[in-house]
Amino acid sequence: MKKTDVMGVAFDDMTMAEAVERAMALAKTGKGDYVVTPNPELVLMAQKDPAYAETLAGAALTLPDGIGVIYAAKLLKRPLTGRVPGIDFAWALMERLAAEGEKLYLLGAKPGVAEQAAANLKEKYPRLEICGVHDGYFQEDGPVAAEIKAAQADVVFVCLGAPKQEEWMRRNGPETGAGLLVGLGGSLDVFAGTVRRAPEWMQKVGLEWLYRLIKQPSRIGRMVKLPGFLVKAAFWKNKGGDGS
Ligand code: UDP
Repeated sequence: MKKTDVMGVAFDDMTMAEAVERAMALAKTGKGDYVVTPNPELVLMAQKDPAYAETLAGAALTLPDGIGVIYAAKLLKRPLTGRVPGIDFAWALMERLAAEGEKLYLLGAKPGVAEQAAANLKEKYPRLEICGVHDGYFQEDGPVAAEIKAAQADVVFVCLGAPKQEEWMRRNGPETGAGLLVGLGGSLDVFAGTVRRAPEWMQKVGLEWLYRLIKQPSRIGRMVKLPGFLVKAAFWKNKGGDGS
């Protein structure tokens, strides 16, 4: 499958529909493959940490989550088809899981959040089979992976934040018995209604980050990295780092 390198991370250049199609095929294999949705912050993290870069490279699907990744790809003169935000990908995937009777497990967030998310999702997709939930504050991986296996999940949404969720999927994917694991950050909080998403117009013009910053000012430390990321992208080619 064709990959597009954006500053050291190989992204799959595909539409949302193509990504969902591929994910459904992987979900049926039971091999514990995983999906990552890196934003600029994660691309920078991968540049600093080779082990994390390897974890991202091990993903079966790497989808561009942030608008910053799209801008960087443009600056590198290898534009991507478009953003495939993790949470929108999750909605589209759930619709297909419901239609095809595949089982979903929700892992992550504070105690009680995954249960509330499951209840809300059931209301939205009555045919969706949520075969189990577990909060994201546990000590040992083994028992959690075993629970997922016992629940016979086909797909697991792993919402532990980065880089924890990607490392967790790489380490435990095959043990869960699931076909596919998807790293989705704070999505369970959104499904549960404890965190609201930006208004649609803000999402469309690429300002979702601004909304999240206003709602959660503590994110500023993470977001100040974005301009630096784009400057780095602009100079990337000159450094001979474009891999071509
Ligand atoms: N979280 C978790 N276990 C942990 C740390 C974090 O389940 O040990 C959850 C946290 O409760 C939140 C999510 O992971 O629901 C991280 O959300 P954030 O918005 O920081 O993630 P992002 O989407 O920005 O990566």
